[in-house]
Amino acid sequence: MAPFTRHLFICTNERPADHPRGSCAPAGGEALQKAFKKALADRGLNRAVRANKSGCLDQCEHGSVVVVYPDAVWYGQVTPADVDEIVGSHLEQGRPVERLRLPDSCVNASTCPHKPRR
Ligand SMILES: [Zn+2]
Repeated sequence: MAPFTRHLFICTNERPADHPRGSCAPAGGEALQKAFKKALADRGLNRAVRANKSGCLDQCEHGSVVVVYPDAVWYGQVTPADVDEIVGSHLEQGRPVERLRLPDSCVNASTCPHKPRR
Protein backbone atom coordinates (compact mmCIF):
# COMPACT_ATOMS: atom_id res chain seq x y z
CA MET A 1 0.00 0.00 0.00
CA ALA A 2 1.25 3.47 -0.85
CA PRO A 3 2.39 5.59 2.05
CA PHE A 4 0.32 8.51 3.25
CA THR A 5 0.77 11.51 0.98
CA ARG A 6 -0.38 14.09 3.51
CA HIS A 7 -0.74 14.44 7.23
CA LEU A 8 -3.05 16.80 9.05
CA PHE A 9 -2.01 17.78 12.54
CA ILE A 10 -4.93 19.07 14.56
CA CYS A 11 -4.05 20.68 17.86
CA THR A 12 -5.93 19.28 20.86
CA ASN A 13 -3.78 20.91 23.53
CA GLU A 14 -5.62 22.14 26.60
CA ARG A 15 -4.54 24.89 28.97
CA PRO A 16 -6.33 26.12 32.08
CA ALA A 17 -9.38 28.21 31.20
CA ASP A 18 -7.80 31.40 32.56
CA HIS A 19 -4.54 31.06 30.62
CA PRO A 20 -3.85 34.27 28.67
CA ARG A 21 -2.84 32.46 25.50
CA GLY A 22 -5.94 30.26 25.34
CA SER A 23 -5.64 26.82 23.75
CA CYS A 24 -7.11 24.67 21.04
CA ALA A 25 -9.01 22.00 22.98
CA PRO A 26 -11.67 24.38 24.38
CA ALA A 27 -11.92 25.86 20.88
CA GLY A 28 -13.07 22.42 19.66
CA GLY A 29 -9.86 20.61 18.69
CA GLU A 30 -11.10 17.13 19.60
CA ALA A 31 -14.36 17.46 17.68
CA LEU A 32 -12.41 18.86 14.77
CA GLN A 33 -10.07 15.87 14.58
CA LYS A 34 -13.05 13.48 14.60
CA ALA A 35 -14.76 15.53 11.89
CA PHE A 36 -11.63 15.37 9.69
CA LYS A 37 -11.33 11.60 10.16
CA LYS A 38 -14.95 11.13 9.17
CA ALA A 39 -14.74 13.44 6.16
CA LEU A 40 -11.61 11.68 4.90
CA ALA A 41 -13.25 8.28 5.27
CA ASP A 42 -16.47 9.47 3.62
CA ARG A 43 -14.51 10.64 0.57
CA GLY A 44 -12.25 7.59 0.46
CA LEU A 45 -9.18 9.67 1.22
CA ASN A 46 -8.31 7.95 4.47
CA ARG A 47 -5.69 5.72 2.80
CA ALA A 48 -3.86 8.75 1.45
CA VAL A 49 -4.34 11.36 4.16
CA ARG A 50 -4.06 10.91 7.88
CA ALA A 51 -5.66 13.25 10.43
CA ASN A 52 -3.60 13.18 13.63
CA LYS A 53 -4.24 14.72 16.99
CA SER A 54 -1.38 16.99 17.86
CA GLY A 55 0.09 18.46 20.99
CA CYS A 56 0.66 22.18 21.18
CA LEU A 57 1.66 23.76 17.86
CA ASP A 58 2.40 27.08 19.60
CA GLN A 59 -0.33 28.93 17.71
CA CYS A 60 -2.73 28.96 20.66
CA GLU A 61 -4.14 32.40 19.92
CA HIS A 62 -5.32 31.15 16.52
CA GLY A 63 -7.10 28.00 17.75
CA SER A 64 -8.27 25.64 16.67
CA VAL A 65 -5.17 25.24 14.57
CA VAL A 66 -4.59 22.69 11.80
CA VAL A 67 -1.42 22.26 9.76
CA VAL A 68 -1.19 20.23 6.56
CA TYR A 69 2.13 18.63 5.60
CA PRO A 70 4.01 18.36 3.30
CA ASP A 71 2.23 21.49 2.06
CA ALA A 72 3.13 23.47 5.22
CA VAL A 73 -0.25 25.19 5.03
CA TRP A 74 -1.53 26.48 8.39
CA TYR A 75 -5.16 27.10 9.18
CA GLY A 76 -6.55 28.98 12.15
CA GLN A 77 -9.95 29.37 13.83
CA VAL A 78 -11.04 26.16 12.14
CA THR A 79 -14.43 24.76 13.13
CA PRO A 80 -16.13 21.48 12.16
CA ALA A 81 -18.21 23.53 9.68
CA ASP A 82 -14.98 24.21 7.72
CA VAL A 83 -13.90 20.58 7.44
CA ASP A 84 -15.73 19.70 4.21
CA GLU A 85 -14.31 22.75 2.47
CA ILE A 86 -10.73 21.98 3.53
CA VAL A 87 -11.04 18.32 2.53
CA GLY A 88 -12.81 19.02 -0.77
CA SER A 89 -10.82 22.03 -1.92
CA HIS A 90 -7.39 21.48 -0.45
CA LEU A 91 -7.00 17.74 -0.06
CA GLU A 92 -8.99 16.63 -3.11
CA GLN A 93 -8.29 19.46 -5.53
CA GLY A 94 -5.03 20.88 -4.21
CA ARG A 95 -6.42 24.37 -3.62
CA PRO A 96 -5.85 25.57 -0.03
CA VAL A 97 -8.76 27.42 1.60
CA GLU A 98 -7.35 30.94 1.60
CA ARG A 99 -9.91 32.47 3.95
CA LEU A 100 -8.78 30.16 6.78
CA ARG A 101 -5.03 30.34 6.18
CA LEU A 102 -2.80 31.78 8.86
CA PRO A 103 -0.53 34.42 7.34
CA ASP A 104 3.22 33.79 7.46
CA SER A 105 3.49 36.77 9.82
CA CYS A 106 1.51 34.78 12.42
CA VAL A 107 3.28 31.42 12.06
CA ASN A 108 6.68 30.99 13.66
CA ALA A 109 6.66 34.56 14.97
CA SER A 110 6.98 35.40 18.65
CA THR A 111 4.50 38.25 18.27
CA CYS A 112 1.67 38.99 15.88
CA PRO A 113 -1.47 41.09 16.16
CA HIS A 114 -3.18 38.16 17.94
CA LYS A 115 -0.50 37.24 20.47
CA PRO A 116 0.26 38.95 23.75
CA ARG A 117 3.77 40.38 23.99
CA ARG A 118 6.21 37.95 25.56
ZN1 LIG B 1 -1.70 35.93 14.56
